Amino acid sequence: MPRVFSGIQPTGNPHIGNYFGAMKNYVRLGDTYGKNSIYCVVDLHAITNPAAYDPAALAERTLEMAVANFAAGLDPERVIFFVQSQVPEHQELSWVFTALTPVGELERMTQYKDKAAHLESVPAGLLMYPVLMAADILLYKADTVPVGEDQTQHIELTREIARKFNHTYGETFPEPQAVYAKDALRIPGVDGQGKMSKSKGEGSTIGILEPLDSIWQKLRVAPTDPARVRRSDPGDPEKCLIGDYHKLFSDLPTIEVAFTGCRTAGIGCVDCKKMLMEGIRRELTPLQERAAELRADPDWVRDALAQGAQEAREIARPVMEEVREKVGFLRL
Ligand code: ATP
Ligand code: MG
Repeated sequence: MPRVFSGIQPTGNPHIGNYFGAMKNYVRLGDTYGKNSIYCVVDLHAITNPAAYDPAALAERTLEMAVANFAAGLDPERVIFFVQSQVPEHQELSWVFTALTPVGELERMTQYKDKAAHLESVPAGLLMYPVLMAADILLYKADTVPVGEDQTQHIELTREIARKFNHTYGETFPEPQAVYAKDALRIPGVDGQGKMSKSKGEGSTIGILEPLDSIWQKLRVAPTDPARVRRSDPGDPEKCLIGDYHKLFSDLPTIEVAFTGCRTAGIGCVDCKKMLMEGIRRELTPLQERAAELRADPDWVRDALAQGAQEAREIARPVMEEVREKVGFLRL
């Protein structure tokens, strides 16, 4: 039976990239693999990016990220869902992997370069991020990792770390594979500035828990195909953010009308955005209603996370024991 692991950072409000790229896959795989699917709010990762970390907000954001996942359909009775810092074995395994990983490999990581470029002083933790991620996955001997396309390089490094550990200490870890949502590999930010990311701030994201009028304000001013200078100019929906979003939210007849309307200049960009807004309303309203119910019951959320951490530790402890023994630490 495959073992699934994935994590999501509490670095901001969960957005439609997280939702379609990762969270929906958590739910889908959870339905199939039950307690062999393990998901985690990775707060240890969140403190590595000073651009997105505020100690006063971290706990609240962690709870909000849990609420978002439960609202999206993740059932803590069926899967294992917990907060990373509640399971200290992640850090312990991460140190062992740190000792195995060449600095040069880490400096090559695109995500590290992108995030470090915006910082005056780069914390070593940002460089070590993929090592901790390898520990997150391999601590559960997971072989299946639902993620967005931006994590491909990190998963490849995880495989290298697993290979290196196995080579050095004997066969221990599987070499995990990424699993992608095929239509949502890399969802662009609503500001037109590359990948939608929590840590880039609210200007980049369409939040799944964001009020619909706020979403509309962002869509209204979102860039579209630059070829459509006037309403009478035809455009190409394949070169447009709004076209990308339609594929996530709209049904096929709506996509047909919107895309043909764009290509023939039969509709304007505002019309197209309004049609998209209908799909967004349909998808997000029930989710936002469930989130409101969960926020009204914070004890349930906390209990679910505590239970999840206990279940995760039961798997993590013996794996860490095995690692300690293989690495050769003194046993007393
Ligand atoms: P940050 O800016 O702090 O890195 P993020 O928005 O990139 O935040 P993460 O917590 O790093 O979100 O990633 C959680 C999951 O969401 C990962 O599996 C990641 O691959 C996926 N993901 C993030 N952004 C996108 C996107 N724009 N399109 C598709 N998947 C995404
Ligand atoms: Mg990210």
